[in-house]
Amino acid sequence: MSYSSNPTKPSIYKEPGPILDHENPFESMMERFRFASDILNLDEGMFQYLSNPAKQVIVSVPVMMDNGKIQVFEGFRVLHNDVLGPTKGGIRYAPDVNLDEVKALAAWMTWKCAVVNVPYGGAKGGIRCNPKEMSQRELESMTRRYTASLLDILGPEKDIPAPDMNTNEQVMAWIMDTYSMHARSTQTAVVTGKPIILGGSKGRKEATGRGVVTVTLAGLNKLGIKANKATVAVQGFGNVGSISAKLMYEQGSKVIAISDISGAYFNASGIDIPAAINYYTLNKNSLDGFTGADKITNEELLELECDVLIPAAKEDQISKKNASRIRAKIIAEGANGPVTANADKILDEKGIMVIPDILANAGGVTVSYFEWVQDRQGYFWTEERVNRRLIRMMREAFENTFAVAEKYNVTQRQAAYILAIDKVATTLRIRGIYA
Ligand code: NAD
Repeated sequence: MSYSSNPTKPSIYKEPGPILDHENPFESMMERFRFASDILNLDEGMFQYLSNPAKQVIVSVPVMMDNGKIQVFEGFRVLHNDVLGPTKGGIRYAPDVNLDEVKALAAWMTWKCAVVNVPYGGAKGGIRCNPKEMSQRELESMTRRYTASLLDILGPEKDIPAPDMNTNEQVMAWIMDTYSMHARSTQTAVVTGKPIILGGSKGRKEATGRGVVTVTLAGLNKLGIKANKATVAVQGFGNVGSISAKLMYEQGSKVIAISDISGAYFNASGIDIPAAINYYTLNKNSLDGFTGADKITNEELLELECDVLIPAAKEDQISKKNASRIRAKIIAEGANGPVTANADKILDEKGIMVIPDILANAGGVTVSYFEWVQDRQGYFWTEERVNRRLIRMMREAFENTFAVAEKYNVTQRQAAYILAIDKVATTLRIRGIYA
């Protein structure tokens, strides 16, 4: 498929089933899954197999709280599919965690790992709790009890958690320690996203942003735009957004807008990104009051005329409400689900290349895979080696996706799903169904 900045380009978009009225990221994901299954002519049995998680576990997690009372939390772990290898996916702590959400996120991980050729299946877990109201001791007790309840599932060869919303390196260290105590030996490879001193990988923190920038550069190359001539807008200035902005800046691109929850900041001559990162860090992780640019709204940032737009904040930012006003040539999805299924069609009609989340932000899971490989080898790589291998895998994944998009005349997102689902389905056919 060809891309252009010409807004009147005729659409060759393939309709992904009925347009949904409510634009929920998980429904959007299922729409895309159904569409790819149709293109691949998956039979009903295979469709059912790939739609349903292999294992869903719900555990009660009793914790002795600081006030001396027992509180019972509900914990989940869903293994979507382990056809390609051990399952991999984050654990989140939030008040609204529920089984349906965890199931959808686990499937998302299966497709993400398959697109970047990481030999993992997908999983996700979580505990319904309010971590902001819990002490460190309560969080540690909850984490250890949850881990102990899942001992049969977890393992370096079985299921390997990672940090997600409201979990971090410390939570991974507690999981690793609890698992190791029961295994009677130190098992660093049971989780990724650990502190470096415990077997974490160099380059992990920057990996997602580096992956976003790698595929963005590959996309610019396809459009014949030089990185040092490109203009870039980035929504969100946390881990993914700030690293993406910094690496594009280092490529010589003009980053004309950045944003965070406090609002957006625009400078047509280009923002000094190292200065913005410095300001953000010194200002308790907020751009509020940043003077190197003029204040605009987050909505205005998304609609700026630019070569690259990197949404790296949260889901549902580009929907049918604003998609027709987007003027970027490339959207590289740093966040998960920032573009809804309804918006996909509009963006395609405008000739905008959307590099989908399951490809664009897969740098994180790729370096998690490197972390696991290093732990199992007991041999740790330099940051330069981590980055080099990450860039190679992301470039390959971009080229593979691009080739599928050309073959089927579909968008990059549709191609990524086709690539991923075909890989899992083909592997499954060769392995056969054990009876
Ligand atoms: P983060 O918490 O470090 O940063 C989020 C940033 O978004 C913050 O700067 C916050 O102020 C900003 N933000 C929040 N709401 C906003 C809004 N309405 N408008 C503009 N900015 C807003 O998070 P992160 O780790 O950078 O993750 C960002 C996204 O990328 C999430 O969707 C996450 O799931 C996804 N992601 C992250 C990783 C990773 O390795 N960190 C990997 C894959 C996907």
